[in-house]
Amino acid sequence: MELGFIGTGVMGQSMVGHLLAAGHQVAVYNRTKSKTDGLVEKGAQWFDTPTEVAANSEIIFTMVGYPRDVEEVYYGDKGIFQTDIAGKVLVDFTTSTPDLAERIYQTAVEKGAASIDAPVSGGDLGAQNATLTIMAGGDQSTYDRVLPLFKIMGKSYQLQGGPGKGQHTKMANQIMIAGTMTGLTEMLVYAQAANLDLPQVIQTLSGGGANNWSMTNYSPRILKEDYSPGFFVKHFIKDLGIALDEAAKMNLDLPSTKLAKSLYDQLADKGFENDGTQALIKLWWQDGKKS
Ligand code: NAP
Repeated sequence: MELGFIGTGVMGQSMVGHLLAAGHQVAVYNRTKSKTDGLVEKGAQWFDTPTEVAANSEIIFTMVGYPRDVEEVYYGDKGIFQTDIAGKVLVDFTTSTPDLAERIYQTAVEKGAASIDAPVSGGDLGAQNATLTIMAGGDQSTYDRVLPLFKIMGKSYQLQGGPGKGQHTKMANQIMIAGTMTGLTEMLVYAQAANLDLPQVIQTLSGGGANNWSMTNYSPRILKEDYSPGFFVKHFIKDLGIALDEAAKMNLDLPSTKLAKSLYDQLADKGFENDGTQALIKLWWQDGKKS
């Protein structure tokens, strides 16, 4: 099948790799062209604009950074909507706003196409290992069309409801992760101060009620003082901002999520916005070093 993929960063890079390995033709575009070089070597075809990717593909995936990037890739001068997309399917994997997902859906329908918002969870390792969780919003018939492709990149996928519901589900996910990341960080700070053996504490906690994905995936990186992304601090701040905006629209106050966002804002203010989210510990450990 002729597929298009726009945005080949930490996540998109691995996801396109799986689509190519499964035998699909993939047309690619990324703002920084060099990030597609390895994929072109594996058989992907480079196009100069999102418009050209869309013109040459039946199903077009996007995995960019922020809602403003999604806006540009879909609605910009060189965007997907600049070409005839009748009969095509648009799938946005970016963590973005529910409102923008609904707008893209409406525009797609007006142009005789279909769209699905499909943010993911599982991190860089989930993308590399094709074990992503995919949270979809849109029509059942569109979802059924893209499901075989989701199965190539993920291990868990569910249609959550109409357009925007994938993004709302991802916000629920990020609210949970805000708690597991602050919990993981404070747990390690406490255990270190109490002179406990950190690997042993982590192993013990993994067998009990405190076990969680953040601890499993990020504590080994923290112990190795590896703060590379992973999942960028700047993107988590974006996600928590969206979650809090959506909560406010529903007249909900989420004090713990607000606190987590303020901690990550402090981390970004200290210059760590391009680190991975495990770098939160740098608020306590100088340069992320234990002692
Ligand atoms: P990333 O490495 O920054 O990748 C985003 C890619 O999109 C970059 O290569 C960027 O190009 C490209 N891009 C941005 N705007 C563009 C535009 N207007 N036109 C073309 N390309 C554009 O980020 P990521 O970690 O892959 O994350 C992507 C999305 O997935 C984010 O919304 C993030 O919140 C979400 N997410 C990430 C993870 C994770 O663990 N990493 C997990 C779940 C969800 P440049 O190379 O020029 O910057």
